[in-house]
Amino acid sequence: MLNKVSVDDLEVKGKKVLVRCDFNVPLKEGVITDLNRLTAALPTIKKLVGDGAKVILCSHLGKPKGEPKPELSLAPVAAKLSELLGQEVVFAADPEVVGENARKAVEAMKDGDVVLLENTRYRAEETKNGETFSKDLASLAEVFVNDAFGTAHRAHCSNVGVTEHIKTSAVGYLVQKEIEFLGNAVNNPVRPFVAILGGAKVSDKINVINNLLDKVDTLIIGGGMAYTFLKAQGMEIGNSLLEADKMDYSLEMVKKAEAKGVKLLLPVDHLVGKEFKNDTEFKTVLDTEMEEGWQGFDIGPKTRELFTEAIKDAKTVVWNGPMGVFEFENFAGGTIAVAKALAEADATTIIGGGDSAAAVNILGFGDKMTHISTGGGASLEFLEGKELPGVAAVNDK
Ligand code: AMP
Repeated sequence: MLNKVSVDDLEVKGKKVLVRCDFNVPLKEGVITDLNRLTAALPTIKKLVGDGAKVILCSHLGKPKGEPKPELSLAPVAAKLSELLGQEVVFAADPEVVGENARKAVEAMKDGDVVLLENTRYRAEETKNGETFSKDLASLAEVFVNDAFGTAHRAHCSNVGVTEHIKTSAVGYLVQKEIEFLGNAVNNPVRPFVAILGGAKVSDKINVINNLLDKVDTLIIGGGMAYTFLKAQGMEIGNSLLEADKMDYSLEMVKKAEAKGVKLLLPVDHLVGKEFKNDTEFKTVLDTEMEEGWQGFDIGPKTRELFTEAIKDAKTVVWNGPMGVFEFENFAGGTIAVAKALAEADATTIIGGGDSAAAVNILGFGDKMTHISTGGGASLEFLEGKELPGVAAVNDK
């Protein structure tokens, strides 16, 4: 159980409550193309509105690099959120985020009203956890709630600095849910516990591999990162992705898995292509048949079977990272096969944000998963066993 004050523990009637949300949504020509992060924020907002708080929302969006960028304004979020909430979300347009306009909007609030501030990253201090902006944000409210899991692995003004200037703080329902799902899966799993890692680089997942080997029964490694493991064990990998300086580490991990009795599954066959594009010439080869001039872009059919078998018997599965270059239709098959295996498994299935979450949603398996994290980076750091600063900063119970 998460030992943090939650929104259920607060008395907020008539109080101004600043809520850090994760409204870092994908935008295409001013239109929000994926509503997941907005709908994920609703339970906390509704609870606070229902309890009669004055709810002041804030978030970053993209990387405006410390100055106002109209294309990264949160105005479209206020409009969409008004629709989803069924009540007006007043947008406090303000180049300083907490300037005259924002203060006026907050002063005009009645109990149960909702105001959304402008993109917190319009202020350069935000990502540096600067004192002035932290104080500015804190000056608006009496209570702070952090419900932005997607940025919980960062120490910024709007999730960490602000807590130094507001006495009462709590985690929102989304952060609570994320930590409980990920925490239970990793620290208290129903076994067999299978973790699946993929994506481009071993270097991004070094600590995740190390930490998970202490916890899982089976570790599946696919995607580009598998090639460094294969090469380290003496296989030919043609022109596939290789991080030569991580070969020793990979061997260490292979040995650690053996010593711990963890089954480490790597690809046994591959879809290899000539060039990094969808319509390149490609074929299926076994590990032993990799040639110069060809690169592994996806796991092959035998590997899909091998991974599916391992997932079938699992009772807990955590997945982070695609099995191949899933953005190219010809090399999406391995990622689809794994998503399908998870959807069919009689297990608690947790998707660790980022590309694997996108893949699962695009492929239509979203509602078949137990939990899809809203934070790729945050869930990875959680899987590394690290404390998330955005959660640590909130008051303990
Ligand atoms: P990551 O951000 O580390 O999870 O990596 C995701 C990226 O890895 C995706 O954009 C995939 O296209 C890429 N990827 C996965 N498998 C491969 C591969 N075999 N070769 C090159 N890129 C890959």
